[in-house]
Amino acid sequence: MADIKKVAVIGAGVMGAGIAAHVANAGVPVVLLDVAAEGPNRSAVAEGALAKLLKADPAPFMSKAAAKFVTTGNIEDDLSLVSECDWIIEAVVERLDVKQALYTKLEAARKEGSVVSSNTSTIPLAALTHGLPERFARDFLVTHFFNPPRYMRLLEIVAGAAKPEALAMVSRFADVMLGKSVVFCKDRPGFIANRLGVFWLQTAVVEAIDAGLDVEEVDAIIGKPMGIPKTGVFGLLDLVGLDLMPHINASLSAALPQNDPFHAVNQPLPLIARMIAEGYTGRKGKGGFYRLNRDKGKLKEAIDLESGDYRASVKPEIEAIAESERKLARLLDHESRHGRYAWRVLGPTLAYAAALVGDAADDIASIDEAMRLGYNWTYGPFELIDQLGPTWLTAKLEASGSAVPPILRVANGRPFYRVENGQRQALGLDGVYRDLARPEGVLLLADLKLKATPALKNGSAALWDIGDGVACFEFTSKMNALDPDVLDLLMRSIHKVAADFKALVIYNEGANFSVGANLGLALFAANIAAWSEIENLLSQGQTVYRMLKYAPFPVVGAPSGMALGGGCEILLHCDAVQAHAETYMGLVEAGVGVIPGWGGCKEMLQRWFMLGRLPKGPMPPIAKVFEIISTATVAKSAAEAKELLFLKSTDGVTMNRARLLADAKAKALKLATGYQPPQPQALSLPGRSGKAALEMAVGAFRRLGKATPHDVVVSGALAETLTGGEADILAPVDEDGVLKLERKSFMRLLRHPDTLARIEHMLATGKPLRN
Ligand code: NAD
Repeated sequence: MADIKKVAVIGAGVMGAGIAAHVANAGVPVVLLDVAAEGPNRSAVAEGALAKLLKADPAPFMSKAAAKFVTTGNIEDDLSLVSECDWIIEAVVERLDVKQALYTKLEAARKEGSVVSSNTSTIPLAALTHGLPERFARDFLVTHFFNPPRYMRLLEIVAGAAKPEALAMVSRFADVMLGKSVVFCKDRPGFIANRLGVFWLQTAVVEAIDAGLDVEEVDAIIGKPMGIPKTGVFGLLDLVGLDLMPHINASLSAALPQNDPFHAVNQPLPLIARMIAEGYTGRKGKGGFYRLNRDKGKLKEAIDLESGDYRASVKPEIEAIAESERKLARLLDHESRHGRYAWRVLGPTLAYAAALVGDAADDIASIDEAMRLGYNWTYGPFELIDQLGPTWLTAKLEASGSAVPPILRVANGRPFYRVENGQRQALGLDGVYRDLARPEGVLLLADLKLKATPALKNGSAALWDIGDGVACFEFTSKMNALDPDVLDLLMRSIHKVAADFKALVIYNEGANFSVGANLGLALFAANIAAWSEIENLLSQGQTVYRMLKYAPFPVVGAPSGMALGGGCEILLHCDAVQAHAETYMGLVEAGVGVIPGWGGCKEMLQRWFMLGRLPKGPMPPIAKVFEIISTATVAKSAAEAKELLFLKSTDGVTMNRARLLADAKAKALKLATGYQPPQPQALSLPGRSGKAALEMAVGAFRRLGKATPHDVVVSGALAETLTGGEADILAPVDEDGVLKLERKSFMRLLRHPDTLARIEHMLATGKPLRN
């Protein structure tokens, strides 16, 4: 199969610029073109877009260094650049005439075998290719990215008349290089996610106004109880921008057949029209359904859906939610206006989803995936139906006089998903269950768990056999926090792997790899002055992490999401890391008034001494590590983690979350051949004089008001650890020496009341206390 080595994106607006940045994140060169500007700099539009990308939040680039892969230009002078590109993505304004005029130019300029695709949200593929040459149609796809392209994992593809090679080339690149989950859609208006998502949002708004509910009530009902992000409905509209809604609604309404249920809910909403006209378009405008009133000291306000006036936002009390005890069916059956509202939104939404099988998609799994990844639902609509029970839903639809979609009749009470001989299967429109096959190179613990039992297990962790002589250590504690049980099982796992396996991978499928040590436990122990227990736990962690580093087999860490504190330290002790591109690593201990105590200081020192390209002498690497740890710096991607040496340049990065375990396993197997554990390294540390230099720098920050009083205390303890303690001269300090200093500083800090105040505050609010 041909590879995509260079990409062009035409249209450097919100989507085009974001897509170009994400192609650059994959390390692939990308040409970004927009219209030619008036004035001397004809490429000013695309150049301006690139400059904006570098400042945007959340960051479209995984590292600012990726910007070097982007070449900017304009379509009048630089169109010939597309002749070098294997994939040309069109992301210009949503107008058929503009897009088609561009395609004619692209058709003349592009090379044989290249693929052109459109990012259109609403225009059918058939209309886009109408009247264009056969060669164009055979190389053309719709590739519908979601905003923001770096973070939203869904990519909807419509293949139309495209050659299988064209489809395979683009979908493989999108999957492996861009990390997208590709969902194949039929050429129907709005594809899958927006077709259902817009119906759902519109229904929720119309019914809310009808029922006279508050926006907070709506978001509480539609959010958590249904596994939907807490932005619910109105918070989500504020986020995406209210002004988008009328456009998408109008184009869906124009394109959908007369008998589509969308028309019934697509009623004019005078309040929203007025809000848009007055600039209340959501977070990007003056505010939306919610706003922060700066005249009243950033007071959070919500709009009254009837009067259109803002009032202070209140936390709603909803008995129906409390009384349904997390049973969704009970909430939908609850005899109250809240219960009735929940049903009047979710009932039609699930029925609409069921009616899309065979229309927008061939299978239920695509619809579920589109809603999970396009709208961040925890469960897709068919997973929700399985929770409710297909029989329950059918009966409830019948009782409320609604049509029952064919697939619910086909299911006839059977679940949409089932597990048969350890294999997950989904029900088809023909009533037959089929295996849910994973693409090659996708390995998931969730699948393995359907047929295997762990090799070892306790309340906080498990060890799995993932085949070919590789074991996988999984944290299973709440938020994957590290506690004595995790360390205990890790110790037992090291012995087990040494005896029965070739290599170990440390990986899990939680939202975050690990948020670090269990702070609640630490605070509890400190409050009862169980100092020796705490010190034992420190030693235990240091010992186990060191055993991991010097184990007779290779260890590969495979993080995704946050890897903080102790979760970062365990990765620092691995032979290699295969990180998901969206990995956020950091030693954040200073934020809670302590320093890394499980070898984090030691490992970071070694890395910056050995690998940091810094001026000679001990102080430059020490100062760098001091800066990273004292400011609790967190890398905002795997690429940034490499810049901070949380990862080594030789560590691997996987763009697609679903491919992480397979990639890590392959790396572990590669290392296993002829594996030799590393040799311990001693460091030459400057002692007291180095410590004084670091303390002087902190003193300056304090005078500038950039460091708090307790920051000075924590930095002092860190300075002592990193410089090797009280010695007078440059002395070699071995690993044991640094570990001992880590323990000493950690224990001293933990006894400090200001540290305990920081921990308490973090546990209560999730935010650092600046005392
Ligand atoms: P936008 O208005 O932010 O950007 C469009 C860009 O296209 C502008 O910079 C404009 O100068 C440029 N342009 C217009 N005509 C051009 C031409 N002939 N040649 C080159 N450049 C031209 O729009 P957007 O939100 O980025 O949307 C782009 C496409 O992506 C649309 O088809 C839209 O439906 C689709 N889309 C948007 C979103 C979203 O959330 N905004 C999501 C998915 C898909």
